[in-house]
Amino acid sequence: MKTIDMNQALRLCKEAETMPQKQRGKLRDTRLMELACYARNHSPYFKKAYKNIGESFTLSQLPPTNKKQLMKDYEAWVTDPRIRYEDVFSYIESPEGGRELYLESYTAITTSGTTGNPMPMVRDPYHNTIHGALTKTRLLRQTDPDLMTPVKHKIAAAVFLDPHVSSYSSLLRMKQAYPGYESNVLELPINGDIADLVRMLDDFQPDLVTGYPSVMGALANAQRDGRMDISPQAIACSAEVLTEKVYQALHQTFGCPVLNNYCSTEGGEAAMSCPAGKLHVNDDWVIIEPVDEKGNPAREGEWSAGVYVTDLTNYVQPVIRYYMEDKVKIHSRPCSCGITLPVMEILGRTTENLMVGGVEVLGINVEYSLMYVEGVYSLQLVQTGDTEFEIRMVPESEETRLTAFEQAREIMLRFFKDNGCPQVNIRLSEKPPVHSEKGGKVKFIVKELDRR
Ligand SMILES: [Zn+2]
Repeated sequence: MKTIDMNQALRLCKEAETMPQKQRGKLRDTRLMELACYARNHSPYFKKAYKNIGESFTLSQLPPTNKKQLMKDYEAWVTDPRIRYEDVFSYIESPEGGRELYLESYTAITTSGTTGNPMPMVRDPYHNTIHGALTKTRLLRQTDPDLMTPVKHKIAAAVFLDPHVSSYSSLLRMKQAYPGYESNVLELPINGDIADLVRMLDDFQPDLVTGYPSVMGALANAQRDGRMDISPQAIACSAEVLTEKVYQALHQTFGCPVLNNYCSTEGGEAAMSCPAGKLHVNDDWVIIEPVDEKGNPAREGEWSAGVYVTDLTNYVQPVIRYYMEDKVKIHSRPCSCGITLPVMEILGRTTENLMVGGVEVLGINVEYSLMYVEGVYSLQLVQTGDTEFEIRMVPESEETRLTAFEQAREIMLRFFKDNGCPQVNIRLSEKPPVHSEKGGKVKFIVKELDRR
């Protein structure tokens, strides 16, 4: 099993970030060669997929892959034949999940899966040490590198209290990993009331606040209005796109570094923010290839249709040219911070918050509540007035249109009531969900207040 010493990992991460791009490219090629050869020799899936690949190859010669292909035969994908799909889930869900290692060697998490089956990801010590070093040297560069360690610091995380969502399960694991310091970690249930969340944070006085940007925006409002007075050393956003608007609001309101990262359960920590507020790709360890609809390289300066992700650190469950739907742009021009890692922009989901009869509710919570509606391919909540809503959907069949609507309507009525909103009206629209002009993605929440 491949391992690396933390000091060596820290040194490698530090050295590579100001290297000329060409030099880092050579490093990357060597790492890719080693990983791909290992995958071919130890994973039956990759042995078959790479059967026509010779001894020397470039990244673009390796056939891409995706979740569907890899999930077809999960046990042929992993490089340790002891790993069993069902066992990984049992391990993740067991109380020992965070305290002990899976097969005495690995950690494991799962994708939360808004579409299809959840996919468990097993990670070896090599992956975990390098990703830990990336976080310390790059994500936390503007602050204390131990800011995410509850021994020294108080950490508050705004999460869904659902153990199937990875941000919550990793928080539980963090608590288990530092026995005696559990009270330095506070989980803020974002599926609750914002006013409660604000009170809890104010009482707790965190050194670090982490969570979804849409939640953070609401917290900035609370701090500005004087409903809360906290002085964190940093705010860390993840999971959604951090817009310039939210970034500036947080930066100005809390006066501390606002950290942002782009990561996935499959590919790990792919990009991290710099002091100039830009996202730099960790391209010495994680390769992001922007591609068009046909899988060809997207042109520089244009939004990609998706990306191929390669994680050069995971030898137990190799992720090589794995397709994800994120739309990105990568630039090679230099950033004012002096780091030579390429700068990336993401056009992902941005979920706006709603104002309902003067009460602010988190858009991300609306999205989460509607995630479990059955019988629909896509669903959109449209606010047409202060307390007027309509639901647009693509049902799985005409038979499910009404039942899905009734289910969604009930969920939303209860949700608004629980959040202290006045009575709302929700009707079913004949129209399908509208796509956003940028990137064509369906936004979960749309406001058409001016068109009434
Ligand atoms: Zn920068």
